[in-house]
Formats: sequence, C-alpha cells, structure tokens
Amino acid sequence: MTNSSVPMGIYIHIPFCLHKCEYCDFYSLPITDPVILENYTRSVISELQRRALSLSSPFASIYLGGGTPSLLLPQQVERIVDSVFANYQPCSDLEISMEVNPATVNLQDLKGLRAAGINRLSVGVQSFADIELKTLGRMHGGYEAQATLRDVVKAGFNNFNIDLIYGLPGQTLSGWQENLSLAMKFNPQHISAYLLQLDESTPMARKVKSGTINLLDDELESELYYTTLNFLAEQGYCHYEISNFARPGYECRHNLLYWQAREYLGIGCGAVSFMNRQRIINQANLNHYIEDMLADRAPHIEILETMTPRQLAADAIILGLRLTGGIKREEFWERFGIDIMEEYRDVIKTCQVQGLLEIENDRIYLVKRAYFLSNQVFNQFMA
Ligand code: SF4
Repeated sequence: MTNSSVPMGIYIHIPFCLHKCEYCDFYSLPITDPVILENYTRSVISELQRRALSLSSPFASIYLGGGTPSLLLPQQVERIVDSVFANYQPCSDLEISMEVNPATVNLQDLKGLRAAGINRLSVGVQSFADIELKTLGRMHGGYEAQATLRDVVKAGFNNFNIDLIYGLPGQTLSGWQENLSLAMKFNPQHISAYLLQLDESTPMARKVKSGTINLLDDELESELYYTTLNFLAEQGYCHYEISNFARPGYECRHNLLYWQAREYLGIGCGAVSFMNRQRIINQANLNHYIEDMLADRAPHIEILETMTPRQLAADAIILGLRLTGGIKREEFWERFGIDIMEEYRDVIKTCQVQGLLEIENDRIYLVKRAYFLSNQVFNQFMA
C-alpha cells in the first residue's frame, strides 16, 4: 500500500480520437461511438474505486489526457471527477486539468466542463497555420483553433495552456513567430512549445523516410527554439521547463510532479502509473479493459520496470534537469540519500567543461545553450 504523505498526481487516459494524426504514437483509437464512450466512463469510475482501496496518499492534481478527452460529454467528465473526490483524499487548491481538441468542443461544452470542476485546460492547437495543421493531420483549422480559444476565455477559464509544435516540415522562422504572436492574442497563462519528434511507426515518419516531406535542419530548429525563449520572456512568461512557459504561479502542477519524479496513479486503458519504485502499465486493449472493469475484475497490468534506488536517483536527475531551476543538492540528499555533487562528480565536471551545466549555491542546472542539447547531458548521466 502506498501511504506517503507526499501528494501524488492522478492521470486519467481517454484513448479515443476523431482520427489518428499523422505524427501521433500515443495509445489512442479512432472511436467516437457514444456507447463505447459511456462504457469507458463507467470502466474508469470502476477502476478509480478499485485502485483507491490500496492508496491513501493525498492527491494534488487530476489530469485527463489522451487521446482526446474532450470527446467525452461534460456530464461524463463530471462523473469521473466526482468519483476521484469520492474515493481519494484531495489536497487543498487542487489543479484539475483536461486536454481539449479544438475540433471537438463548442462554447456550451466548455461551460459544461467548467461546471464539471475542470479548472485548467490544455488546448491542442499545435499551429494556427492551415497548411501545417494539414501536414500534421489535425482535424481542425487555424481559424477554428482561434474560435475555440475565444470560447475558452468566454467559458470562464482563467488558467489554460496552448500547445504548439515547432520544427514542422516547411516551417520558417517568420511562420513560427506568427504562431507565437497569434497565441498571445488570447493571453494564455501557459504555453507548451515542443519540437516535432517522430516515432518511426507514424505515417509522418514514413513520409520523411520516403522523402515525401523533409524535416528542418538542426540549425533552424535551434533558431526557432531560442526565438521562442526570447519572445516569451519579453511577453512576461517564466521559462520553467525546457519546453514549458508560464505566467508566474501558473506552472502546471501535474507535470511538475512528473519532472520532480513524484508518484502518480494512471487510470484507464494503456495508462502508466509510477508507484513504489515501479512503472506499471494497464494493458492497452480496449475491449479487455472494459470487460474487466465492468465485471469488477482487476485490470491486466504489466510491470514495465522496477527501479533500484540508484536508478530512481538517476531518473530524478534527468527529469529534474529539465526544470530551469535545476536540482538542489540538499533536497536531493534528503530524498535519495545521495550527494549528487560527489556521486556524479566526474559527469558534472565534464558537462561543466563542455559549457552545458552550472553549479551555483549548491544548485545544479543546465545553462541556456544546453536546453536544446539536453539529451547530450542526460546521456552522460545515464552512462
Ligand atoms: S488528437 Fe492527439 S492523441 Fe489523438 S491522434 Fe492526434 S495527436 Fe494523437
């Protein structure tokens, strides 16, 4: 039984989408059948009840992700959120986030989500340019994304994120700057700007391989990234994680739990949990999951890894260095019983010589020029 007093996050996976985007390798299925969505809602509630029996930690956040959680009706979202409150112990000032796809919601839906208790939205805009959205295989256009963002504000959300992707085939510096400027029109409290990363199983990766489309070169990708940092700093956003920016006080608490290597409970088909040093996945088979949950049977799980204390510490370093505040030696010692400066002295020295890491007041952090090269640093810690 996990009964740590450190709050955990609760992630709820909704694995349905209108259709599969060209770049996506998340577990999601092109299903919109209302009967399946209702059965899935009941299944998630059943799993929430069952898993609560072995957990007594308080929780600091709920995050409904996918897939496309906004395919659920607001009433279904409300039943799921209510079930979390009925079965788990909430911290005060809870963050309840949900991902929203502009192709799936109108003002009425958004008002319904607000009434259901959702207090933070993450809007999957990705780009405001129709041609880029088409390349990505998104089901909405740029105009529709803007209309959704207007509705998000009208519905009373005062904490929302805009997700953008840079490094798209054919993207130019001015095209990316246009995307950033358009995002500013809606005064979001949070921006996530991710570099396009393609798993080789995706249709888009196959097009790159066959030469149908071309990715940008590293130099331009890096220019787009550092343009983002400078532009958003000028706009008053705090750069708190390699790809994430927030107005002060609006950092995503749920994602901070991940980067701080804290525990989280993953609910739903294909969801991953991290508890008691184990990473566990619920079997990604929708029919089996629904059958098990509705018959009140335990879900099929697979233990992905059981980490040794040292692996746990290495993982915490890699995640922690993603945060611009870096890692504090004393806090690390208290959590892992390891003096990071001593244990990783050689790696830290090498990275310092390479101009990628700095140490200041017993805090170790990536320097700005290393943000785009962070994998180079992480690989050295993992070696
Ligand atoms: S909407 Fe999101 S989860 Fe669904 S296919 Fe597109 S990228 Fe993947």
